[in-house]
Amino acid sequence: MKLKYNNLENINEEIKNCKKCELWKYAKQAVLGEGEKNAKIMIVGEAPGAEEDKTGKPFVGRAGRLLRNTLSSLGLEETYITNVVKHRPPNNRKPKKAEIKACSEFLIAEIQILKPKIILALGSTACEFLTGERKIKVAIEKDYEFMGAKVLVNYHPAAILRNPNLLNKFVEKIKQAKASL
Ligand code: SF4
Repeated sequence: MKLKYNNLENINEEIKNCKKCELWKYAKQAVLGEGEKNAKIMIVGEAPGAEEDKTGKPFVGRAGRLLRNTLSSLGLEETYITNVVKHRPPNNRKPKKAEIKACSEFLIAEIQILKPKIILALGSTACEFLTGERKIKVAIEKDYEFMGAKVLVNYHPAAILRNPNLLNKFVEKIKQAKASL
């Protein structure tokens, strides 16, 4: 397939100027993917939250710190972290189908350029986009494939903050991603 973008810098430039859906109007800035260009594991969340909108970095709020601390405690430092949509939806609502569709070319381009071996989909929006399955409880027990990468599904770390009983499963799934590298 012909690449629309040659590198991450091209993609990010396009995202910063993007007005393909209305989310840019409500956000302070776009939140770009971040991490190692040679990362074998890509982590995909739903959308930026308030802290991410403020800083322009993905997964830096409370949930993000839980994710980053878990990755670090497992020695998984070389990752690339991004979201399905790049601008924060107002009041942290779920992105709409049309917004996901409009933004999807950027995530697809990130996958084309980075060619990760593993994609870890966090939460229901990333899960549905990358696997077609809407129910996390179903998807979390299976392996999927997307553009040549193995896709593993996990709970979003925000769900772990709401329900700490899910923490063991969350950590176990990240260990599984590491073991699959
Ligand atoms: S959310 Fe995605 S599609 Fe919508 S304006 Fe931002 S970058 Fe463009």
